Amino acid sequence: MTMLTIEPVACLSDNYAYLIHAPDAGLCAVVDPSEPAPVRKALAAHGLKLTHILNTHHHFDHTGGNIALKEEFGAEIVGPAKDRDRIPGIDVGVTENAPWQFGSRSVRVLEIPAHTRAHIAFVFDDDHAVFTGDTLFAMGCGRLFEGTPDMMWNSLSKLMRLPDDTRVYCGHEYTLNNGRFALTLEPGNTDLQSRMEEVRALRAKDQPTIPSTIGLEKRTNPFLRPGAGEIRRTLAMPGATDIEVFAEMRRRKDAF
Ligand code: ZN
Ligand code: FE
Repeated sequence: MTMLTIEPVACLSDNYAYLIHAPDAGLCAVVDPSEPAPVRKALAAHGLKLTHILNTHHHFDHTGGNIALKEEFGAEIVGPAKDRDRIPGIDVGVTENAPWQFGSRSVRVLEIPAHTRAHIAFVFDDDHAVFTGDTLFAMGCGRLFEGTPDMMWNSLSKLMRLPDDTRVYCGHEYTLNNGRFALTLEPGNTDLQSRMEEVRALRAKDQPTIPSTIGLEKRTNPFLRPGAGEIRRTLAMPGATDIEVFAEMRRRKDAF
């Protein structure tokens, strides 16, 4: 099995769709197409024909290109079964117990609710890649539109159990702002400091900061680090539970 190629496609103001090309299988999927035009252009640039559309959740900035791309390419739309009614044009509904096949690859689905109640991640184990939509961002996490802090903590904990070398492909370029917030909580984290230098340099050249890895997120993303001593000292919550610390960080980020 040759490795997949995965390419970010910038959409709208700060969204990423991703082209996933399996050359051995002659398949090409797009994850979370916000709009059709940039996806069409990226496909044409590589001479690829779209076969699948994968959606992590129903929000318009992740599904806005579904119908146009489906009509144009006859692509099959795969999304969370529990949100059939809100995924435009959905053909195949997936759950954690019903994984999905991309050619000969078995793709695992993780149910990671809280940003929306049916949000999922697609895990390509053989290729060490996960598509996390608006649940896990580089140095951040999604807003709690349809869930509670403990739901989100549980969802993030599922993602944290993936191998450290798993590449994380998220739905938005929010990294710089997320990192600035992270530094308010954990200014002494040297991994965070050096990551921020890299992120600033990339953004100054208008380059994506994606992908990161699960290991890097565990070292630098405050939302995965509610047990960290410095974070607890900043928040003056020494004896709180991880969920309480997580909830307080999420509250502060909403107002950051
Ligand atoms: Zn969203
Ligand atoms: Fe989004």
